Amino acid sequence: VRALRLLDWKSEPELVEVPRPEPGPGQVVIRVGAAGVCHSDLHLMHDFSPGMLPWEPPFTLGHENAGWVHALGNGVTGLEIGQPVAVYGPWGCGTCARCRLGIDTYCEDQANAPVPSGGGGLGLDGGMAEFMLVPDARHLVPLPDGLDPLDAASLTDAGLTPYHAVRRSWPKLVPGATAVVIGVGGLGHIGVQILKATTAARVVAVDTRDAALRLALDLGADHVVPAGDDAAAEIRSYTAGRGADVVLDFVGSDSTLALAASTSRSLGDLTIVGIGGGTLPVSFFGVPYEVSVQTTYWGTRPELVEVLDLGARGLVKTSQSVYGLDQALRAYQDLREGKIEGRAVVTP
Ligand code: NAD
Ligand code: ZN
Repeated sequence: VRALRLLDWKSEPELVEVPRPEPGPGQVVIRVGAAGVCHSDLHLMHDFSPGMLPWEPPFTLGHENAGWVHALGNGVTGLEIGQPVAVYGPWGCGTCARCRLGIDTYCEDQANAPVPSGGGGLGLDGGMAEFMLVPDARHLVPLPDGLDPLDAASLTDAGLTPYHAVRRSWPKLVPGATAVVIGVGGLGHIGVQILKATTAARVVAVDTRDAALRLALDLGADHVVPAGDDAAAEIRSYTAGRGADVVLDFVGSDSTLALAASTSRSLGDLTIVGIGGGTLPVSFFGVPYEVSVQTTYWGTRPELVEVLDLGARGLVKTSQSVYGLDQALRAYQDLREGKIEGRAVVTP
């Protein structure tokens, strides 16, 4: 069967033949319905070298996956062949306090995880393939009625990551509050919808690309601002000089982090989601008073159940371009060149 594999750091992935995976005890093989094309994969191809991450190529890409149960290993109960499922992507040890709550992202016994701080498509074989081995059945979330694997795949990262980031700021997203989304790509365009569906805050979207700003307006953003020298002043004036209660940076470059700091309101949240390599200097007078600065990584399994519910009810909808597995390299190229509106997914 075919798989798109990252064979080495600083290289383009290759479509190669691999053996069909077989499930061991407690494991499940899914037939992949779709795998999302994430900007993080571009970072994997370009930004890392040996020793920087706790795992190494080769592995099959695709950390945002949904499909149908294909084969069950010994001892797996509660799943049926053919059942549509989403894959919860971060795979921890399964027994530490965090993993027991479904917070595999912050597993505290990484030595006993399948790979430390990784998952399918991140050190282990992911979903850019016809079949995918899921090493523990607990990582599969049955899809609610109304959601098929093609629409569910991107919700497992491009949906779950902004959902987690928005959810932790809910107490600050009261009526009258303003949220700023910087970067309306795969994550950001779902982030805008999650803000609109789960809070009464006004949503301001920022991007360098006109197409992304148009998409944000289509998806319910109250106001859009082109990235650039005037962006901070425009957001300040939109918030009557106060600044935004919650700023979510889905880029994470020096310039977007500076924009985030200069548009945050005192007592607000400044959440860094993008892995753009930038630095935010934090100091007493460098950020507004009592701004909480945090990074967030992916989300929890219970949150995936919640975001799938938003998807099944049509409250969150991925704006999606579909590519075949033999066009996956093209999909990454289009993402690199800023040609994707919303998310691209690969379907084998
Ligand atoms: P994407 O390429 O689909 O979207 C990025 C968007 O940001 C694009 O619309 C682009 O035009 C816009 N942009 C670029 N530079 C900008 C600037 N200076 N100002 C405003 N907008 C700008 O990427 P994605 O797949 O949505 O991922 C976004 C980032 O989040 C990546 O760095 C990715 O690695 C990271 N990520 C983080 C997590 C996490 O758990 N923290 C999870 C997934 C992805
Ligand atoms: Zn754990």
